[in-house]
Amino acid sequence: MDLKKVIIIGGGFGGLSAAKELVKHRFDITLIDKTNYHLFQPLLYQVATAALSPGDIANPIRSVFNKQSKINIIMAEVTSIDREQRTVKYNNSTLSFDYLIIAPGSKHSYFGKDKWERFAPGLKTLNDALKIRENILLSLETAERVHDPAEREKYLNFVIVGGGPTGVELAGAIAEIVNKNLMRDYKNINSKMTQVFLIEALPVLLQSFPEKLSKQAIKDLNHLGVKVLVNKRVSEINEEGVWLGDELIRSQNIIWAAGNQASLLLLTLKIDLDRSGRAEVNEDLSLNGSHNIFIIGDAAAYKDDHGKFLPAIAPVAIQQGKFVAKSINKDLSGKTRGKFIYRDRGTMATIGKAKAVAVIKGFNLSGLFAWFTWCVVHIMYLISYRNRIRVMVEWAWYYVTNRPGIRLIVKESNKHINSGVN
Ligand SMILES: Cc1cc2nc3c(=O)[nH]c(=O)nc-3n(C[C@H](O)[C@H](O)[C@H](O)COP(=O)(O)OP(=O)(O)OC[C@H]3O[C@@H](n4cnc5c(N)ncnc54)[C@H](O)[C@@H]3O)c2cc1C
Repeated sequence: MDLKKVIIIGGGFGGLSAAKELVKHRFDITLIDKTNYHLFQPLLYQVATAALSPGDIANPIRSVFNKQSKINIIMAEVTSIDREQRTVKYNNSTLSFDYLIIAPGSKHSYFGKDKWERFAPGLKTLNDALKIRENILLSLETAERVHDPAEREKYLNFVIVGGGPTGVELAGAIAEIVNKNLMRDYKNINSKMTQVFLIEALPVLLQSFPEKLSKQAIKDLNHLGVKVLVNKRVSEINEEGVWLGDELIRSQNIIWAAGNQASLLLLTLKIDLDRSGRAEVNEDLSLNGSHNIFIIGDAAAYKDDHGKFLPAIAPVAIQQGKFVAKSINKDLSGKTRGKFIYRDRGTMATIGKAKAVAVIKGFNLSGLFAWFTWCVVHIMYLISYRNRIRVMVEWAWYYVTNRPGIRLIVKESNKHINSGVN
């Protein structure tokens, strides 16, 4: 009997979780990803701030499935999906499917101001993290040799736009390294000269967290020397820095952590998408009118029983991947698919080296205990034992010595992101 062909687009949290479940059953599985690795995005900011190296948080997809003969891995970018013909296109190839799982994730969105990206990169890929890391190190090097205080200021001002978990984690980590850990390597600059700004348009940080924890996050960030500016809307970003109306924060180090939009691949489905470019899916995560096509993770808009959209976080993608794989298997045995129910095990964000805020099973946690819980959870979710051990060793080293690891500038051109040469 011919096996049913299942194509999975994306080897991130959702796609990988679906593949791991499907290989337990009899299917002809193809996983297509434009990179050759699975990326643990929650620790990207640690690569951007030189606490971890790229290999600590990325794993080749082939090595995840190297003992599985049932899965075919293709490294390619899928460029279109034809729902009627049941095909996907990549490079010059077309592949047909019986079932399709679409899990291409999301990218950052500049709310129509795409020209800002050149001056304020977002943090989504390993490449982004390495670019940001080099820019931070390059700024410190430039500030060290520039003697005019007004000129030096722009290399020592660090601006993060967006006060969600990514912005909060980045601001805390940058404040820690530029105010404490790296400064002893330089002779002409010191922590009194650096400023880290976190800008948020809403009146609060970490909007999805309880008010108490959001206030605690501001306190902890202030303690690390971060200037938190809430209720402030960015009006322009250019080579000079960030404009908040008439006010200019001069900076060569701006990081965008303010908006997300689903992968543009979804446009080729020719269906209605929401404001964030996501596709609304049925209760079994299939697409309306296409029972055999599922969308999961950051690309899916799925409401819980209270009518709230599920957040774009890794546990949602992982649980959805497993659910759709099981549903496909149920189809073959004539069972009904059922409805996807998200099991919320908590949310958390770190603030610097030894503090965090977390909501776990309705309990609010903060401080060192929340941070320790954050460390354990992130190590558990890393995909390989090798990465778990490497990250544990790196963190232990950093905790004891206060010195981040990879501080090399390898880019040949020593131009800053803000100069427009990336
Ligand atoms: C900086 C940062 C910090 C985060 N921190 C946390 C956190 O602390 N906790 C948490 O739970 N979540 C966190 N998240 C969110 C979490 O990483 C995402 O919700 C999760 O990765 C979504 O999973 P996914 O499978 O939908 O997409 P992804 O994991 O993004 O995977 C998408 C995959 O699809 C591939 N792809 C995309 N387009 C194509 C194409 N056209 N063809 C082929 N392949 C394609 C990509 O290469 C990628 O491998 C963070 C995200 C970021 C960026």
